[in-house]
Amino acid sequence: MTTFSKKIINWQKRDGRNDLPWQTKNPYHVWISEIMLQQTQVKTVIPYFHKFIKNFPNIDSLAKAKPEKVLALWSGLGYYSRARNIHKTAIILQKEFNNILPNYYEDLIKLPGIGISTAGAILSLAFEKPGIILDGNVKRVLLRYSGDQSPINNIKTQKNLLKFAENLLPEKNFRSYSQGIMDLGSLLCKPKNPTCCECPIKRNCLAKELNFQNQIPFKVPSKPKKERDINWFFIFSKDKVLLRRNEKKGIWQNLWLFPEKNMFSKSNLNLLEKKEVLPLLTHNLSHQKLTISTMKYSIEQRDRLKIDRSSFAWVKKSDSGKMGLPKPVKEIINNYL
Ligand code: SF4
Repeated sequence: MTTFSKKIINWQKRDGRNDLPWQTKNPYHVWISEIMLQQTQVKTVIPYFHKFIKNFPNIDSLAKAKPEKVLALWSGLGYYSRARNIHKTAIILQKEFNNILPNYYEDLIKLPGIGISTAGAILSLAFEKPGIILDGNVKRVLLRYSGDQSPINNIKTQKNLLKFAENLLPEKNFRSYSQGIMDLGSLLCKPKNPTCCECPIKRNCLAKELNFQNQIPFKVPSKPKKERDINWFFIFSKDKVLLRRNEKKGIWQNLWLFPEKNMFSKSNLNLLEKKEVLPLLTHNLSHQKLTISTMKYSIEQRDRLKIDRSSFAWVKKSDSGKMGLPKPVKEIINNYL
């Protein structure tokens, strides 16, 4: 076993996180948490994880669920393709794997939403098998440890890191090792001003030795985000608001949004009474920056509005929590309905 892995394992057992709700050794829990943790912090994930597992306690119940319910439980967590992939994978596991998560890399990697790092996490954390995790925290630790200033968001760097991480793997204690290196990145080797004095691998860390921890990881500036304007109609009638299911592919597919002006005929628009312009919202996605303007309208007799009942719905605030809503829609309903 390398000194690196030995130190990480000992540190994890002593000072790492050992009370996370998904540390149950149940492969299903590990899989759901690992998907939720992609792009999302632990403290944000915890309440979502509890709610998800309460509603879908196992693979079979998740596979049988309606896609809308899965999206509703994901509402606010963002990156909704993760929820769609989780559901697709559960259906595959039910049909082809007898409701059991496989413990072979070759099987895991073929499942929707499971990439190299997630497969490595499942193997090590759920099955105590060798598996390489390369999430953002782990990459930062490895790049600093080796004093590597190559850009973190470069394919060649990723390939080199994979090889480097493979060489550092221990011969046993895979669960503690994987958890340990993630914990180290999250608790000590933070993006800015890492707590090197408490770090178990400080003696051999090149970035620490040369005092350029804050310069690593180096990142090639990514392309500026595409800017997009959205104009929503917030139409309410008594205690209900009008929502429509977004069937378009891309962001927020199958989630419930507010309608837009071009979705109504002139006669429908004449039924609306303008109330106010709501404050402008900006919402950042991984590749887009959305500027959302919302106009608030009321309608006395909502039944006169001609809408397609299969894709539009009048919804009470209390019922909106059971639907798949992106964060800005949730926020507007909570503040203005
Ligand atoms: S010594 Fe500092 S920079 Fe190096 S791995 Fe530890 S916390 Fe990170």
